[in-house]
Amino acid sequence: MAKGLSRAGRRLPACGRLILVVIACLPGLASGGMAAAAGHRTANFLVEAPTEALARKIGDAAEQYRHTLAIEWTGSPLPRWSRPCPITAQVAPHLGAGGATSFVFDRGEVFNWTMTIQGSEERILDSVLPHEITHTIFASHFRRPLPRWADEGACTTVEHPVERARQHRMLIEFLTTGRGIAFPQMFAMKEYPADVLPLYSQGYSLARYLIERGGRHKYMSFVADGLANENWSRALETHYGVPTVAQMQQVWLDWVKQGCPAPPASLAAAAPPPAAAWAATTRGQSPDAPAARSGPAATAPVATSAARTSVYAQARVAGPSAQSDR
Ligand SMILES: [Zn+2]
Repeated sequence: MAKGLSRAGRRLPACGRLILVVIACLPGLASGGMAAAAGHRTANFLVEAPTEALARKIGDAAEQYRHTLAIEWTGSPLPRWSRPCPITAQVAPHLGAGGATSFVFDRGEVFNWTMTIQGSEERILDSVLPHEITHTIFASHFRRPLPRWADEGACTTVEHPVERARQHRMLIEFLTTGRGIAFPQMFAMKEYPADVLPLYSQGYSLARYLIERGGRHKYMSFVADGLANENWSRALETHYGVPTVAQMQQVWLDWVKQGCPAPPASLAAAAPPPAAAWAATTRGQSPDAPAARSGPAATAPVATSAARTSVYAQARVAGPSAQSDR
């Protein structure tokens, strides 16, 4: 498995109120894509892509994801941003799938979005875009950085089943080769670990476990409670009836050992079905269910994507001009 590209954001003096967040979910190398050459503007996005048709397709998909995923996670659509989020897309058939999104928190506000995405057209539309859009929904909703596992894990649950299945395979590999992360350590992580890929796989698996037992709105309430007082054991107890982070690890590990079975019907029933509009997008919904796809992308071949790594870097910055480490 290719080791991660290290792109941690600059650490700047903690002298300002602004908090920069850079979320990068990138393959090892970002090269070979066609240069962005055409633009398309939607209500909330300004897309640059190799062709106008692609820019339009990506912009329209971004708007649809922004609308349907916000409802899916929070129950209501996001208000229009005051300024559009620029998206730069590199698109090529065998380009590893990945993305990076940065934004700035300041006194409860979030702004200065930028997003860079790359991959095959299919993977951009069915995995990278919904993943990165979910980051923006979480930032808009919580108005503060989330724990790494909770953010990346949840964002991975909206990717295409092929990508989610890949995360599960990697999880099993990590758990059987001594690269698993103890939950008390994972829940306390403010920075990415040097060995970042297991955080991704475990975060995804735990987010999936929790979401299958109560749905996305409950997951959001759980994260909100945990963020409010940094008492994640209490948040787990309140929302999932598991009294401690350490016990959550045991419960989750037993579930993984059993092959990640579906929850009892009573618990599964608590998870609301996806919104109709969301179900109409091009991706399967049930985590790790066989790829039940509809729409134009259904017949396209699945592109091979490089191992994805992720760097979620944040730093206090002196001003918005220092928003990106690029
Ligand atoms: Zn991400």
